[in-house]
Amino acid sequence: EGKLQLVHRHIRAFPDFPKKGILFRDICPILKSPAALTAVIDLFEERVRSHHLQVDLIVGLDARGFLFGPLLAQRLGVGFVLVRKKGKLPGPTTCVKYDLEYGTAEAETQEDAVAPGQKVLIIDDLLATGGTLYAACELMKKQQAQIQGCMVIIELKDLNGADRLKPHSVFSLLQY
Ligand code: IMP
Repeated sequence: EGKLQLVHRHIRAFPDFPKKGILFRDICPILKSPAALTAVIDLFEERVRSHHLQVDLIVGLDARGFLFGPLLAQRLGVGFVLVRKKGKLPGPTTCVKYDLEYGTAEAETQEDAVAPGQKVLIIDDLLATGGTLYAACELMKKQQAQIQGCMVIIELKDLNGADRLKPHSVFSLLQY
């Protein structure tokens, strides 16, 4: 069995979660399987290496980006930085507002997390409308980081999140 098939086999779908009409893709089985989790990080690492991406820091999104980002960062021998929901990080922070389906939210990073010019790769579990990753890109721009791209396990193609993130590229392991 290939790595991609292994990952695919460890993603479940739950209809009507968190509300009616949404088909929620659940990556928890990946975390329960050491082999599937290793496959995810292998595939992310292979992408970075095959595309000769220069990366100084991995940036992970609250909360499931925190599960995969540090593992990839360790593989690449680089550091990991958190983008969190507002109010969770101490010290001076940089903040951006972004739109959710209903209302707005704010994402934050510590001001000293990224130095101007550092090359960052942004990680989350899933790309839907792209609003969350877009906010992370805006944060990184405010920090004057050089965005090398975004990586997710799952991309929900119909929602066209990748268009919203242009000119930044998104790499996804699986598309639904
Ligand atoms: P977006 O901002 O619309 O692209 O939504 C992406 C964010 O919502 C990510 O942080 C995901 O973790 C979360 N998300 C949206 N839909 C799902 C899903 O079906 N499964 C797991 N997470 C989801």
